[in-house]
Amino acid sequence: MPELPEVETIRRDLSQYFSGLVLDEIAVFGKRTLRRSLWTSQEIAEALEGLVLVEVTRYGKFILIGFGSAATNVKHYLVVHLGMSGRFVRKAALLNCEKDHTKLRLRFGAQELVFWDPRTFGEVFLEDELDQDGRPGSLSMTLGVDPIFDPKGVSRALFEVTKNSKRPIKSVLLDQGVVAGLGNIYSDEVLFRAHVKPTRRVGSLNTLEIETIVHMIQEVLNEAISMRGSSLNDKSYLDLAGLPGEYQQRVLVYGRHGKACGNCGSTIVRVQLCGRYSSYCQNCQR
Ligand SMILES: [Zn+2]
Repeated sequence: MPELPEVETIRRDLSQYFSGLVLDEIAVFGKRTLRRSLWTSQEIAEALEGLVLVEVTRYGKFILIGFGSAATNVKHYLVVHLGMSGRFVRKAALLNCEKDHTKLRLRFGAQELVFWDPRTFGEVFLEDELDQDGRPGSLSMTLGVDPIFDPKGVSRALFEVTKNSKRPIKSVLLDQGVVAGLGNIYSDEVLFRAHVKPTRRVGSLNTLEIETIVHMIQEVLNEAISMRGSSLNDKSYLDLAGLPGEYQQRVLVYGRHGKACGNCGSTIVRVQLCGRYSSYCQNCQR
């Protein structure tokens, strides 16, 4: 599933290739893709066609494409969540055998941009305003802190949630209402670097451990962004040109159960927490 670094890579590509272009046509396909939207595909087209793509921002795992009539004046944000395996693709030709899975098509003159989502966990909706932190307005109350925009906010959020809580730290990191943007890959990597087991009850973490986790979130996410994200064998994430990221070559524990820990040589194990597997080293993580 695309996490913050993959979404940020897509955001940068979208901004680079499409900023300043006039949107000639847009169509959204499928009720499931529009499940959060208060607007129909037709209404979205009426609102956005003829406007300029002013900016592309991101909050957590959401991409926000701002359209307006002038360079600095955004009227509407087209908000896209990639879900489990949604992909933006610049050339529709790349997907010519699987057109059924096209959920969103945008045409800017001769340039076409397609959102392709075979599993339809992704979603598309329109939002008129962002809150002061850059969240889509309708998600202000439910979406937590974005760790890239507000590292200190992550520290505050974790200290708040760890008070007397028995939740395992891994499920807290995956909770988008606490930290927005982490998923299974990066939370496993963060906990390995912080020497904390995914099963640790957050109430048992000391101040130094929490601060180390906050620091490692920054370190891991920034490294992964610089390497254009992680592409696993299932190809659920590829960039706008259809190319994979490179961070999967850097992972220390995620998906490495049964292999030797690069730090101590012990065998990496995995455990199931809330329906998700977490990999960790029993020797390096406490
Ligand atoms: Zn180890």
